[in-house]
Amino acid sequence: MGATRATGKGKRKRKSGPISKNDAHRPTNFLGTMQAIPHGPGIANLGNSCFMAAALQCLFHTAPLLRAVRNYHCPCKSCWICTFKNYIDKAINPASKPKPFYPYDFYEKLKDFSFPPRTQQDSHDFMTQFLGKLGKVTTTEGKYVVANEFGGTLINQITCLVCGLISGDPEKMLHIALPLVNSHSIEESFNIFTQTEYLDSKSLCEFCQEQRYKTKSYIIGRTPNILVLQLLRYQYEKQTNGMVKLTHPVEYSSTIDISKFTRQANVKCEYEMYAMIVHEGSHLNSGHYIAYVRCSKEKWFCFNDSEVSAISEQEVLSKQPYVIFYAKESVALFSELMKPEPEVIDLDSKSEDQALLADLKKLKPKQKSKIIDLDRIIGSERKDQDLIKPKPEPEVIDLDSKSEDQALLADLKKLKPRQKSKIIDLDRIIGSERKDQDLIKPKPEIIDVDTVDSERKDQVEVIELD
Ligand SMILES: [Zn+2]
Ligand SMILES: [Zn+2]
Repeated sequence: MGATRATGKGKRKRKSGPISKNDAHRPTNFLGTMQAIPHGPGIANLGNSCFMAAALQCLFHTAPLLRAVRNYHCPCKSCWICTFKNYIDKAINPASKPKPFYPYDFYEKLKDFSFPPRTQQDSHDFMTQFLGKLGKVTTTEGKYVVANEFGGTLINQITCLVCGLISGDPEKMLHIALPLVNSHSIEESFNIFTQTEYLDSKSLCEFCQEQRYKTKSYIIGRTPNILVLQLLRYQYEKQTNGMVKLTHPVEYSSTIDISKFTRQANVKCEYEMYAMIVHEGSHLNSGHYIAYVRCSKEKWFCFNDSEVSAISEQEVLSKQPYVIFYAKESVALFSELMKPEPEVIDLDSKSEDQALLADLKKLKPKQKSKIIDLDRIIGSERKDQDLIKPKPEPEVIDLDSKSEDQALLADLKKLKPRQKSKIIDLDRIIGSERKDQDLIKPKPEIIDVDTVDSERKDQVEVIELD
């Protein structure tokens, strides 16, 4: 009984849960999945492969790259692009979410980078070479995605110390390697990186046409959408003739403004951190790599090989990064790719009309009344203007000029008695409204009665009588 009553109302509630027949018409997100996944899967360690997994996690969760690779068609099925695309297909499938991904295909291909098998490598080195392999991937708009998102330009400015001529061509860059020696913050590292150096020997200045002493300094030309900062933690040490890791803490924050290191120092150039690679251990070719990724506005995840766990931003910021990924505000986050795409909606379908109606219904009463009020105001303004309209213009008449007086008299002569009195009445009304102007108005006494003819005397009498 109860069940029939419930269905008898005719109201349909949206069901959540397993995909039903009706869901076939639901818009899918760009990945073609019905469900949004909060993050990609963990990546199993195949033996010293964490350097690769950490870099892959950061790049997989880089939304513009993920979107472009996913939509890119390569016929070969075995190149790095295809390998990454296969991974994306598996990673975004909600059904395979709980399982870690086994990166055998990637592992096999590492020989392309001349990495000896089963050895720990530099995660940033892998990432740079891997991005190089994705160079020809284009977006749906036909742009090379790696160059478009990660690419910026760096200018090595050479300045003549006599005339000040600045020369130097912009060079393409995909990341900035920041020195950590004598630096305790990203800002300090940027200052060191861009500081002016005096060149030891003279060189020809094209303006002076003489050999001149010059300085050089780095400045950022085109700023990338995604700014990758590699912190140079590995330093050559003479004593041991080997690399040593700089482990001192470096101050950094979740946002950065690099405008003062760019050509346009007065234009803000802000970024927000969305991923980070951390190296644990004291040596480059040992230890362990972990990735931290911000998949949505508020949610960070720690990717430690096959394990994925939620983590607070505060905790992320307590780590000492090796590579930091900053993105401009215009760059979408991973979660934003998971939203249904509006292009999928059929504009001709009735459901679209219904959606529009639903939106209109959502308008608050206040918003509606504002529209009406506006109409009212316009109406009242129009009425005011109507009242002002029939105003005669005595102020305009130059009463001092005789010719003007004569013209006025001529006009008055033509007027019938009734009309004359009307003018006077109107003048009175205006007079009471504008007393200030009355003070300016010339008084009738000014008129020299002797100089005007008898007809005019009559007119003056009419005015005085009233
Ligand atoms: Zn391919
Ligand atoms: Zn010069």
